[in-house]
Amino acid sequence: MSFIVTDNCQLCRYTDCVTVCPVDCFYGDETQLYINPNECINCGACEIECPVNAIFEESMLPLDKKYWSKVNAEKSIICQNITTRQEPHIEADLNKKKLGF
Ligand code: SF4
Ligand code: SF4
Repeated sequence: MSFIVTDNCQLCRYTDCVTVCPVDCFYGDETQLYINPNECINCGACEIECPVNAIFEESMLPLDKKYWSKVNAEKSIICQNITTRQEPHIEADLNKKKLGF
């Protein structure tokens, strides 16, 4: 089991999650971030930090988001390792409001 990033991460890039990860297991492309399930140590620190509730412990994923386990596993091995805070997406604040946070 691992923690998983889901679609609420799109248009964010606040990257609060990255700054607390003790093993630097976040990866990203132009769309969003992903967690490498083989590197995540299940500490849960990132889940608490994410301002838009994009991160779930794998067993707690809602049914309609279960497929994100596969997406994180596949994407994290081909995307760039993100280990430092990034510039927030230009629409991050707007998207956060749209998501109800
Ligand atoms: S804080 Fe949450 S939404 Fe923002 S980049 Fe991290 S996982 Fe994605
Ligand atoms: S649960 Fe811990 S180790 Fe896993 S991605 Fe989040 S902060 Fe990193």
